[in-house]
Amino acid sequence: MIIGFIGLGIMGRPMAKNLISAGYKLVVYDKYARIDDLAAQGAEKAVSGRDAAARSDVVITMLPNSPHVKEAILGSGGVIEGIRPGSTVVDMSSIAPAVSQEAAAALKDKGVNFLDAPVSGGEPKAVDGTLAIMVGGDRETFESVKPILEKMGSSVVLVGGVGAGNVAKLANQVIVALNIAAVSEALVLAAKAGVEPLAVFEAVKGGLAGSTVMNAKVPLILDGNFKPGFRIELHIKDLQNALDTAQHLGVPLPLTAEVMEILQALKVDGLGASDHGAIVRYYEKLSKIELGNR
Ligand code: NAD
Repeated sequence: MIIGFIGLGIMGRPMAKNLISAGYKLVVYDKYARIDDLAAQGAEKAVSGRDAAARSDVVITMLPNSPHVKEAILGSGGVIEGIRPGSTVVDMSSIAPAVSQEAAAALKDKGVNFLDAPVSGGEPKAVDGTLAIMVGGDRETFESVKPILEKMGSSVVLVGGVGAGNVAKLANQVIVALNIAAVSEALVLAAKAGVEPLAVFEAVKGGLAGSTVMNAKVPLILDGNFKPGFRIELHIKDLQNALDTAQHLGVPLPLTAEVMEILQALKVDGLGASDHGAIVRYYEKLSKIELGNR
């Protein structure tokens, strides 16, 4: 089994390394990033997406957003020009579900299977091979590549048909952004009321308000540590995909739209490359107070 891997950035590089460690033969391609370290570990270099696809049985893509996926899979010199009928493309990027469906339809015409399989967990879990992977596509294709996905993730769930993986990822990103905003709003209120935010966190985290997001982000927020993590500009990209998808479906997302404006304001303030925990900075500015040590 030969795997083509396209997009060796923050996430793709450690994911590809885990596949090499698991014994898979890889053919790797990135339009911009150097890939010498992967070649040194035994991966073969490809000169284009077409070249990588022509030399593989399964092609995995891990790219920034919808336009990059369209270019790499459907564009000139892309995967679709090299891939053999009966092969499978697994796009693990977080993109608009409609673009997953567009890629799947174009590949189906060539007899090629497609899954969308975005991930949650960030770089540390990509390195550990413990990502949560949410998959859209048909069950037979899913079962055929599940052993590969299990080398990169500890949770691999088939959510529904093509596009359903990215719908789950959009839901994930809405829940995470709103949760961080709610926690920030509440802790600034506590601090303004003269109550120690850390004590409030300790008091509420075991109750109904507690969450994985709260446990992960509040210690960093109270430390003033906004090193990413997950960058604000990536979260803007995901919420934009959520808002576009919702608009297409005629679904109002009032809270997502509000948090999107908060993220945009933080980007204008120069915090686009900060961790999304920096949402608290917006609330701090409104109330002229700082939580924790800066
Ligand atoms: P990244 O920008 O670090 O890596 C993307 C790579 O794709 C880069 O190396 C770039 O050179 C390459 N690339 C871009 N266009 C290309 C093309 N047309 N052909 C070939 N290569 C191309 O991004 P990342 O942080 O690895 O994120 C990848 C995806 O995973 C994104 O959709 C992101 O939202 C998602 N994600 C990221 C995180 C995170 O914490 N970074 C967590 C979960 C999900």
